[in-house]
Amino acid sequence: MTSSAQPTSGKPTSAEPSFETLRERFDLPEGRVYLDGNSLGAMPRHVPQRIQDLLHQQWATDLISSWNTNGWIDLPQRTGNRIGRLVGAAPGQVICVDSVSVNIFKLLALALNLRPGRKVILTAEGDFPTDSYIAQGLAQLLGQERCELRRVPMTELEAAIDDDVAVVMLTQVNYRTGELADMPRVTASAHANGSLILWDLAHSAGVIDMGLDAVGVDMAVGCGYKFLNGGPGAPAFAYLNSRYQGQLDQPLSGWLGHRDPFAFSADYEPAPGVAALQAGTPPIISLAALDASLDVFDDVAVATLRERSVVLTSTFIDGLEQAGLLKTCKLLTPNVAERRGSQVSLAHEQGWGVTQALIGAGVIVDFRAPDIVRFGFSPLYNTVDDVETAVVCLARVIREEHFLDARFVHRPKVT
Ligand SMILES: *Cc1c(COP(=O)(O)O)cnc(C)c1O
Repeated sequence: MTSSAQPTSGKPTSAEPSFETLRERFDLPEGRVYLDGNSLGAMPRHVPQRIQDLLHQQWATDLISSWNTNGWIDLPQRTGNRIGRLVGAAPGQVICVDSVSVNIFKLLALALNLRPGRKVILTAEGDFPTDSYIAQGLAQLLGQERCELRRVPMTELEAAIDDDVAVVMLTQVNYRTGELADMPRVTASAHANGSLILWDLAHSAGVIDMGLDAVGVDMAVGCGYKFLNGGPGAPAFAYLNSRYQGQLDQPLSGWLGHRDPFAFSADYEPAPGVAALQAGTPPIISLAALDASLDVFDDVAVATLRERSVVLTSTFIDGLEQAGLLKTCKLLTPNVAERRGSQVSLAHEQGWGVTQALIGAGVIVDFRAPDIVRFGFSPLYNTVDDVETAVVCLARVIREEHFLDARFVHRPKVT
């Protein structure tokens, strides 16, 4: 099969389901184009049945025995291993627990413990705020002797890695611009200076083929509810390279991270593996929804999804250019496929109004202050037709100035 080594047009290989078949597995609203899978992934059709079974059979009927007989107790690790396949991690290094924010807290504290002579958490300006907020909270808790957050422009990040830096924390795909960081290069720069690296994969898990183990990444976190389609509030995941397991010294030392939770011993002793990142009882209903959603990824390689994603974002950018839209909207996303994730961001001075007018026209996108309209493309269910509809609708919104409509003045809590 010599042709398999050639670049393809984003079609799955013959062993993989077609993109039509993959899209069919999702319950998408009629007559609308959903381009917000980077904020809340769509629901696979089979998820409600699985949750019904969990509620009526496992909870109502099997009751407490379900922790063993229905495998509830192992769900964080089982689901973690399934995500591990998508991010290039061998089993036993990924666990589904808590939120990204809480996982960052645990891993940053662990990183500082692993680098006792160093105190700096280095990150890039303009990264997702919660990552910095958590570092600030940790710095306040530990004191400035032990922990300091340092933020520099992305272009200066690698040069700023010095002997004080315990850990570099960075998102692989920037939530505002959609820019894709060079994971192998930044990881190597951190390691060359004796620093650890913590990657936030919130906007890349499930759409970018990465090899956490192959690159030698130390730690990572990511979202269950974005491109992994785990449902609103789905648990996040945390990756810890096996070389640090057994030294898992993190401060949220709850009973389910204990070596033997059901011994109920007086003092904490961490579990030997990634299980020590678990603090309390997992949210089984949410985890089951995430676990079920991951079935959609079973027969398809992430590299195939990445190719499809590149087709979608490239077609969109080409369409914007051809429609003359890049004169009025500023393209914030790199116009080079290798440097972008699965979203395209446009800045427009009436960005909020543009977003609302697009939603009114049936193209669901979202807004990030102060002026950014984000178009997220899920390779599992978005199509080239979706892309074309989005371009046509945006052209009409801009041409007819729908963004000035008085209906779009109000801004609700969640944008
Ligand atoms: C969405 C997102 C989060 C969300 O964090 P939670 O604590 O799970 O709400 C964190 N970091 C980045 C980069 C994100 O895009």
